[in-house]
Amino acid sequence: MKEKDRKIKGLIFVISGPSGSGKTTLVNRLLDGRDLKNKLVKSTSFTTRPHRSAEEPGKDYFFITRDEFNALRSAKKILEWTRYLGYYYGTPKDHIDKQLKKGKNILLCLDFRGALKIKRLYPGNTVTIFVAAPSLTMLQKRIEGRCSRTRKEEIRQRLKLARQEMRNSRKYDYRLVNKSLQKSVGELKNIVLGRLSN
Ligand code: 5GP
Repeated sequence: MKEKDRKIKGLIFVISGPSGSGKTTLVNRLLDGRDLKNKLVKSTSFTTRPHRSAEEPGKDYFFITRDEFNALRSAKKILEWTRYLGYYYGTPKDHIDKQLKKGKNILLCLDFRGALKIKRLYPGNTVTIFVAAPSLTMLQKRIEGRCSRTRKEEIRQRLKLARQEMRNSRKYDYRLVNKSLQKSVGELKNIVLGRLSN
């Protein structure tokens, strides 16, 4: 175990999945459940992408400008970051450091690059979980439902990235196929509780 890992008591669960896999709903259901209340803290990322109407600023994301993002990056306030469809996303470093020092367990929803970066930074404390959609047809339907009809290019890009992410899924510690929300919440909860009790 590396020196850095030895100092950390908590676990970091990183959840990834392509756009349309249903991972956000899954994670929200997981956090709402009684079993994990107070055991897991979700980190809220910074993003420069526009705010969607259903999203709550400060809970789903901290919506910031590109200049603000660059300033945070220069000040080393971002632990890891990615560029996705032209927008920037980053994990707040101070929040993670604070929670880890307190021995809290953290939940992060990141893309493939972010998941691997966190695993590299905290190899002994990171658990990576991939949420796959049951099929590419299902994924396409969900992505089309989310993006406005006029944004054909965004749909195409999201599907391309989704296929890439599906190919990377074997690099994760766990992979679950989100066929039914209820079943998947149960599976995810079992993974998390199982690792927390080790
Ligand atoms: P969306 O725009 O659909 O909310 O997110 C696009 C992708 O960025 C998703 O795969 C999401 O998990 C990922 N993501 C969100 N925040 C972060 C972050 O802070 N870092 C990284 N690496 N990926 C992120």
